[in-house]
Amino acid sequence: MAPALVSTPGEPFSSSRDTGKVGSRATSILHRTPWIPPVAVSAQGIYIELENGQKLLDAVGGAAVACVGMNHPAVNKAMKEQIDRVPYVYNMQLSNQPAEELAKLLTEGSNGAFELCGFASGGSEAMEGVIKLARQYFHETGQVKRTNFIARQLSFHGNTVSTLALAYHPARRAPYAAILDNDHFHHVSPAYAKRFQRPDESEEDYVERLRAELEAKFIELGPETVIGFVAETVVGATTGVVAAPKGYFKAMKSVCDKYGALLILDEVMSGMGRMGTLHAWESFGDGIAPDLQAIAKGLGGGYASIGAVLMSKRIANGLRDASGLWKHGHTYQGNPLACAASLAVQKVIKDENLLENCRKQGAYLKKLLKERLQGPNSPAAPFIFDIRGAGGFFGIEYDFDCPEAATFDLKGGHFAMLVQAHALEHGLIIMGFNGSANLEGTKGDVSIIAPAYNVTSAEVERIAEMFGNSVEAVLTKHRV
Ligand SMILES: *Cc1c(COP(=O)(O)O)cnc(C)c1O
Repeated sequence: MAPALVSTPGEPFSSSRDTGKVGSRATSILHRTPWIPPVAVSAQGIYIELENGQKLLDAVGGAAVACVGMNHPAVNKAMKEQIDRVPYVYNMQLSNQPAEELAKLLTEGSNGAFELCGFASGGSEAMEGVIKLARQYFHETGQVKRTNFIARQLSFHGNTVSTLALAYHPARRAPYAAILDNDHFHHVSPAYAKRFQRPDESEEDYVERLRAELEAKFIELGPETVIGFVAETVVGATTGVVAAPKGYFKAMKSVCDKYGALLILDEVMSGMGRMGTLHAWESFGDGIAPDLQAIAKGLGGGYASIGAVLMSKRIANGLRDASGLWKHGHTYQGNPLACAASLAVQKVIKDENLLENCRKQGAYLKKLLKERLQGPNSPAAPFIFDIRGAGGFFGIEYDFDCPEAATFDLKGGHFAMLVQAHALEHGLIIMGFNGSANLEGTKGDVSIIAPAYNVTSAEVERIAEMFGNSVEAVLTKHRV
């Protein structure tokens, strides 16, 4: 067992968190976690080794990032070669080969959906870039009254001040609510049928209700003031791998089109193959391509801090006819090393046909998880609200409102965190989130599993087994 986990991730509010006091142990990092995370020293494929020799199976690729595993020889080679060529140029002075080639691959591989690409150094930066670019587009095309964004409750678009304001995750924004811009960022309901579709509604009725709500919000704000509607194609780090009901994106786009606003998709987590197709909207967006899109996590695959903004013909033409440039930049934008890494990751996905493997192994994983957790003999079955997802992205949502929960002290809503802690101590990395089940974000637990696209069936079997063991062990521990 890892000594660094004496203060367990699942009990962040216990007195053992004192071990995580700044300076109380050998760390000078102000960590994000109430416990001190163990230190990784080496990695291969989906395995990561710690300082103490413990080997972990990373079933979630960090945060749905490491899509081709660690230490892939082709990616390592490309990065080493790029270091020897040109590790850095500043994009206000020079461009570089891997950046040019990566942008070409991203736009030319989009079947006409995107014409131009701009780089960032991560997901939040990409979403900041999207916000500014969308405004720049209207500023330069003479629609200066457009200043409002409409996004959704229970969403996540990043951790910078503007992306926190754009999104709506109650806990993550709480400390900053007083300084967030509420004048230009507005919110409508999430599209989460299993929790929010009413019992007397059909799927079509539900979609129509959400469409009408968006249109009402446009009218309330003044349709000529709306820049665009922003959504994660498949919601990641809030409700946990939730796809919209059928017809939703078509309906939302119809409202945007009616009033000349933009449809903006955040595929930072769900894009670049995570759902089994390059873009999540290809399989979960009614085939509707966005005007603007942010990508990041699977773009660099963990080898590089990189994100990108993808621009449709509409945006590209508007800007070409006006200033012809992106009035936005960062020092590390289009960094040669990051772009070389990302380019190599994308080539590996293509050359090794990894999207097909991801879909195939993902379907197998989903089947195993359902058998293990929802099967007739599963002690966890009464507490499994939903097992969902596709490609390499799966959410397991729990329910402790059921009558069976009366004999467990799990009312606190930290089950997913307890499972995450137990799994980590027993060699499996997964993610847990709270607050998936109501708009206040005070109820609900979900675990996320998102292995590398080149995961093998033997590894998938191990993931399902280890995950099932963790869920059951936490239940056993909390039976009263
Ligand atoms: C992770 C994430 C972001 C933020 O990306 P960072 O690289 O952490 O800044 C934005 N949007 C979505 C949907 C994400 O999942």
